[in-house]
This record gives sequence, C-alpha cells and structure tokens, in this order.
Amino acid sequence: MLKNDQLDQWDRDNFFHPSTHLAQHARGDSPSRVIKTANGVHIEDRDGNQLLDAFAGLYCVNVGYGRQDIAEAIAAQAKELAYYHSYVGHGTEASITLSKMILDRAPSNMSKVYFGLGGSDANETNVKLIWYYNNILGRHEKKKIISRWRGYHGSGLVTGSLTGLELFHKKFDLPLAQVVHTEAPYYFRRDDLSQTEEQFVAHCVAELEALIEREGADTIAAFIGEPVLGTGGIVPPPAGYWAAIQAVLKKHDILLVADEVVTGFGRLGTMFGSDHYGIEADIITIAKGLTSAYAPLSGSIVSDKVWKVLEQGTDENGPIGHGWTYSAHPIGAAAGVANLKLIDELDLVTNAGEVGAYLNKTMTEALGSHPNVGDIRGEGMLCAVEFVKDKDSRTFFDAADKIGPQISATLLAQDKVIARAMPQGDILGFAPPFCLTKAEADTVVAATAAAVKTVLG
Ligand code: PMP
Repeated sequence: MLKNDQLDQWDRDNFFHPSTHLAQHARGDSPSRVIKTANGVHIEDRDGNQLLDAFAGLYCVNVGYGRQDIAEAIAAQAKELAYYHSYVGHGTEASITLSKMILDRAPSNMSKVYFGLGGSDANETNVKLIWYYNNILGRHEKKKIISRWRGYHGSGLVTGSLTGLELFHKKFDLPLAQVVHTEAPYYFRRDDLSQTEEQFVAHCVAELEALIEREGADTIAAFIGEPVLGTGGIVPPPAGYWAAIQAVLKKHDILLVADEVVTGFGRLGTMFGSDHYGIEADIITIAKGLTSAYAPLSGSIVSDKVWKVLEQGTDENGPIGHGWTYSAHPIGAAAGVANLKLIDELDLVTNAGEVGAYLNKTMTEALGSHPNVGDIRGEGMLCAVEFVKDKDSRTFFDAADKIGPQISATLLAQDKVIARAMPQGDILGFAPPFCLTKAEADTVVAATAAAVKTVLG
C-alpha cells in the first residue's frame, strides 16, 4: 500500500481534478482527500475516518454505498461480456432489459431511451435530437434553447452554455449563441420582496413571454429545466410554476426537456420529478440515480411525438449520425438493472419521501429561527439552508466571506458530516442516499446546527 506522503505527491503532480482550485491543490494548500471504502450512508477515508455523506457523492449514490447485489451484477456482466457496442441494432440482454424497465417507470407518453454515460452527454444528445427534429420538420431557424439562470445541465460546450451559473461560463467563452436564459423560479431571491408566490410565478411567465417575443418563437426550439433547481441552489419551484410555464411553451410550439438527472428514480419521493409536478416533457434526461453511480450511465428518454419525427428522418437520410462507443455499455446497463430492482425491493422511493420530509421538518425546527438563516427549503430527499447577513432586509453576505464553504468545512471538521456548499450563494445543500434513517437525519441536523453556531453564533 502506498504511504500517504507518496500518494499526496503523486496526486499533486499528476491528477488534474475537476471543479478544483488548480493552483491551490498543486501547491498543497488544500488537502488531498482520499476515500477508501463506503457502506450505507458512510464513507471512510484512508485514515479510517467515518464520514456521514449527506450529499450521496454528487447526489447520485441513491441506494447507498456497498450494495453487494449491484457489485455482483457488475462482476457477472464483466465476466460474461464486458463490452459490445450498440450501433446498427446491436444490444445485450442488460441494455434491452434496462430500456424496458426505464420505460415501465417513465411517464406514459415516453417511447424510447438513448443511452449515454453522464448527464452532460445526455443533454448534448438532447440538443442534437431537437435540432435534427426541427430540420426534419423543415423548421431550419427553430434552434435556440431556453434555459434558466441557475439551471445546471452539464459542463460541455452546449451543456455548459445551458448551465446558468457564472463559474461555468467565465473564461470559457460561453454561453454559445444558440442558448438564451430566463428567470429562475427562485422565490426567496425575487427582486421585488413585496411579491406573493403567485405574483412571482406571473413574473417568471412574463419574463419568458418577453424573451420569446424578443427572439421570435420561430427561432426557439426547446426549453430545458430541472423539476427542482439543483446545483443552482436546491430550489423547489413555487406552486403553479410548471403548469404556467408549460402553457406558454405549448402556445409557441416549443419542446420541453425535463432534466431529471438529480430527480429521476425517486429523489422527490416519486419515481420522476415530472410525476411530482405534472410536467409533460418531450424528452427526459436521466443519469445519476439510474445506476446510483455504481457505473457511469445516462439516458435521453424521448416521447412518441419526438420519436415519430426522428424515425421519418432516418427513412429519408439513413442511420442517425449520432453515437458513442460506450452508448448502452453492458456493465452500466447491468448496474442499472440491479439498481432499479433494489429500489423497488427496498421501497426506497417511499423512504426518500418520508425521511426527506422528516429531514426538512427537523432542519426547519432546529434552524428556522436563527437570525442568519433566511430560507430552509426542500422536496423529498433534498434540503437546503440559505444564509443571510440580515433576515428582515434579506441582505446577503459578501461572497468573499465564504460563509457557505466555512459552514460546510466546520460541519466536516466537527462532526464528520458531508453537506455541499452550493456554488452560487451561501447555501448548504443536503441530498442524502434514500436509505437514510430518521436517526441519521437527526445526526445531520444536530451537526448542522452546531456548525452554524460555531461559524455564526
Ligand atoms: N443535469 C443535472 C440536473 C445535473 O445535476 C448534472 C450533474 N450534477 C448534469 C446534468 C451533468 O451530469 P454529469 O456531471 O454526469 O455530466
């Protein structure tokens, strides 16, 4: 086994970490975090520290760590057939079975699933399918995609453009011109504090209408949104938001992509976020919870309406010119089948709803009246605490004070609980595995209250 010093040195010298402060890490100013093993909701680092992972990795290890059923399914698949491609009609029992299992769970207007590897490439696929669709229909100008500020849809070129967070655009020459952004349904951060939720929804609709008017409906192909904004701050929409937005999209013949990378397969206490909010999407993006991250796999579920047009296109033009070497990778597919079976067997969607509601309730009881806690919000097994300098005037802290990162670092140092400081604003995010127990939720809440006390008093 490598000594810690050696591992640290190799890490700094060789490993280009994603979403990491490159200079600090290379200098050794930030610690190497080497994770060795994990079980249930706990991960263990190389020094034997047990950490309670209240963010399920990157909200993806939904069934919890150490599930032998999934590990065995992966091993069995690797031994029998580690790889074959899925071009020109090829498949494996695992990929075909998983397609059926996904469609059995998806909203009834869905027709087929295209497999990728991660959420970013799935959204990249979606944009290409939407362009292909409009080209087949002869609508060559109808190509722009509307996304929301604070939406997160990946970090590729088009998907990084769809992502509505400054950090993902700055110095990358993004967003691309085909992407336009509209208001986030973020009631707590509304500009006009006198607005009711209903008025704020009307404002979001008016902003969307104005954008469509400005750009021209015949230039806009689709709208993409997460049922609950995730990386942008864990923000459930105000009541009535999705119904009102969908009415506008229908009127202008704009497709709707529901990005369910975080919400798909149970995080909101329903199989899909679309079920929860009555979203009738034309395409649904899935990733993380599809395999609970036991292997990389994503998918674009396309509706009957979209599929019928895509089919016509290939009758005219030959095979669709879009494919990844690893589309429907058998090992990912085997992990997906075992994962979805486990979610059913253990009724984890129900647990996500019940324990998630408990986590949100107890977090509110513990911290709701703290003078620097402006908002506590969540849905299912998602929860966020947003910090403010002054509650009455809703004044935010200076970003330079790094209150969110300080609280998450304190939470880890004091009580070995992992929550995520969300990238824009002082927001502490929680997205535990669905198998979290109420006792573990109590631990998370008590540790959070203690960390807030240490940092803010
Ligand atoms: N969409 C959403 C809603 C996400 O949360 C993420 C990842 N956090 C992505 C897309 C991108 O997925 P990936 O990182 O697997 O490319």
